[in-house]
Amino acid sequence: MIPDDLRADHQLQPRRGDVVTLHERIEAAVRERMAVAQAASPGPWRLDPDFDDVFAVDDERCAEAYALTGRQQRATAAHIAANDPARILRDCERDLKVLERHAPAYEIPLRWVCRSRCKPVPCPELVETAEAYGITEEAA
Ligand SMILES: [Zn+2]
Repeated sequence: MIPDDLRADHQLQPRRGDVVTLHERIEAAVRERMAVAQAASPGPWRLDPDFDDVFAVDDERCAEAYALTGRQQRATAAHIAANDPARILRDCERDLKVLERHAPAYEIPLRWVCRSRCKPVPCPELVETAEAYGITEEAA
């Protein structure tokens, strides 16, 4: 769930009758994730010595972890810090490169043969990238 004011401007707004490909849905999800990361407190993030607060690169506290146990709280804070905006932006850049390598060469009409001619069809790289974003082919 993403707040409306953080949604990417380029988010797909399909017109009635338009076919939105799985490739387009993945790219929209990647760009939306990038927009949220770019709007977040700047990374890299770091943990405080007690492992319960996370600070942005500008030394502003950007997250405070809570959990049932101290161990889980420290792990939660470490997880937040490890998934800071800088990390997410690197992941998104990687995913955009995957999308470029596996862009549709042609469609049949909702399935596609990618530029790399991956087999089977649909391209396993795209299907796996879609799954990472919670997108299923059936929902495309
Ligand atoms: Zn492919």
